[in-house]
Amino acid sequence: MRTKNIFKRSVLASLVGVACMGNAVFAQTATSNQLVLESMTMDKKADPCTDFFQYSNGEWLKANPIPSDRARYSAYDEVTERNLAALKLIAETAAKGDGKSKAAQLVGAFYASGMNEAQIEKEGIKPLEPQFAQINGIKDSQQLLAVIAGLHKQGVSPLFGFAVDQDAKNTTRYIPQIMQGGLGLPDRDYYLKTDAKTKDIRDKYVVYVTQIFSLLGDAPYQAKKNAAVVMTLETRLAKASLTKVELRDPQASYHLSDLNALQKTDKKTAWSTYFNELGLAQPGQFNLAHPKFIAEAGRMVNSISLDQWKIYLRWQLANARAKDLSSTFVNANFDFYGKTLAGTKELQPRWKRVLGSIDNMAGEAMGELYVSKFFGPEAKAGVLEMVDNIKLAMRESIGKLEWMSDTTKQQAYKKLDTILVKIGYPDVWRDYSSLQIDTGPYAANMARAAEFEFKRNLAKLGKPIDRNEWSMTPQTVNAYYAQTMNEMVFPAGILQPPLYHVNADSAANYGNTGATIGHELTHAFDDEGRQYDAQGNLKSWWTKDDEKKFLVRVKAIEKQFDEFNPIDKLHINGKLTAGENIADLGGMKIALQALHKSLERKPQAREIDGLTVDQRFFVANAQSFRSLIRDEMLRMKLATDPHSPDKYRVIAPLANMSEFSDAFQCKGDRSPLRPTATRVNIW
Ligand SMILES: [Zn+2]
Repeated sequence: MRTKNIFKRSVLASLVGVACMGNAVFAQTATSNQLVLESMTMDKKADPCTDFFQYSNGEWLKANPIPSDRARYSAYDEVTERNLAALKLIAETAAKGDGKSKAAQLVGAFYASGMNEAQIEKEGIKPLEPQFAQINGIKDSQQLLAVIAGLHKQGVSPLFGFAVDQDAKNTTRYIPQIMQGGLGLPDRDYYLKTDAKTKDIRDKYVVYVTQIFSLLGDAPYQAKKNAAVVMTLETRLAKASLTKVELRDPQASYHLSDLNALQKTDKKTAWSTYFNELGLAQPGQFNLAHPKFIAEAGRMVNSISLDQWKIYLRWQLANARAKDLSSTFVNANFDFYGKTLAGTKELQPRWKRVLGSIDNMAGEAMGELYVSKFFGPEAKAGVLEMVDNIKLAMRESIGKLEWMSDTTKQQAYKKLDTILVKIGYPDVWRDYSSLQIDTGPYAANMARAAEFEFKRNLAKLGKPIDRNEWSMTPQTVNAYYAQTMNEMVFPAGILQPPLYHVNADSAANYGNTGATIGHELTHAFDDEGRQYDAQGNLKSWWTKDDEKKFLVRVKAIEKQFDEFNPIDKLHINGKLTAGENIADLGGMKIALQALHKSLERKPQAREIDGLTVDQRFFVANAQSFRSLIRDEMLRMKLATDPHSPDKYRVIAPLANMSEFSDAFQCKGDRSPLRPTATRVNIW
């Protein structure tokens, strides 16, 4: 996923609880009725019992080196690349003025302005000059907060984050949310860890910050000095920030407050100026998600010199906009975020980057054009049928749980029955009529789109919950479960080959998309999701005893993953990845049970390509996770991603499933199955 906006979204996501498949952004319909598994991409010489990832994907891994403009290449990226080609065609047609709809006009103009390289080069940093002038003009700490609010309104997030979202303990209302943020590196740990690799990244970050100041016109000596100021300031914010693991505890990010209470604990900071400038003179109750962080931010506002703040704000603004400015900014930004952090060799061609930015800023307009061309009713019907079967299998599985009491089970059924399912695209498209996009300067379009998004979000206050809203665009190759909405969402983008085949062998579809549905469904009951009730409220519905038994199981799965060591001395963080690992294991188990049930009504070929039904299920699952990843990206994911690396998402669940060993007749030493004492079965 991309840097800035996604960063903001991920901060919010961790706060309000959006758990996803964890794959990259961005179809094409499939009408194949015999395509089953991609058996030619397997390595049938490998032993499925001892190396199932290689057995299922060996030939594919050999034939698909990572493209130079990617840090990872996976089944999801294959679809993403295909989607990008489709979206390019859509955008180019729209840019020629062929589309009459509002969405076509918006996408066409946005794309044309983004592709106008000559204009973008000529503009240089001119688009940012008005904001630089405001930053320069700051005279006191009150104005400092006003300028920070102004930047928040434009989609730039210095010092902390702001958004409107559901109140986690009263999900029928929206409230403002104030959260930790303000960093340029991917996580607080990058500022604080002392190992050689992290130090090296930090050094290169300082070089990059220096380079941005030079590009803004500062003398070399000054640019270097400014970078040091940024680093000191951000390190202080990092120290006050919760870790990614701490952020997984939803209670740790919930502190209902209001302006009076905040002002009482922090008399010196002009918080009312901040809210006024946002257009929220009376913010009412809000979630002060991370009070210790905000207290530190307040102390910093009142103790750090205005000159230093001006340096930090210039940097934050330039860095947030760098990838959409002229080539010197784009290249510097890519050198650090693309090359150093992720290991990507080459910058993506401009058209891909522009499509990515439109997806971020006005993605539903593109989605409207996309689904009209590439998403048919057959896919939706097929997926709905799977969802129903998988929910039924989950219900039966809950019923059979030996460790859970009937009291808790009744509450679990209630939650399961309430889950809302969205497939393909929104019933109501986002209204972009107040967003002005033209063929003029690209940066101006980006700025207006960011402001539109801020206003759209802010306007939710006081209104009923919008159940039609989607947090991913239809072209996104991903899926998610949202805790406070208690809903799971499957965009059109993920419902296509090789991830989903309309009318194909059920064994393959259940192993792949079925397991994804099971994964999202299990998120409602993972270690985070289970803390929310049927209405999405952060409110326990568990008996104390059942909770205890559940947590013992969570500990066991954490321990399993802590042991994996994918690169260097870096292990998977069992606590960071627990929710996703529970969802992977639960999703696969439930999808297999649902497949078995569906066979009663829709029998499938007993053997295809020499594989039984269950074998095809497992191979399809492993193929959905086929991927290669660059070392740098792998290190970054281990530090920041709640998902385990793809290979482990395949092999780790299998070691807990006797169904797998039975399917491939793995016996004795060859069996990957863990001994009963360390095996985990949660859902
Ligand atoms: Zn997930």
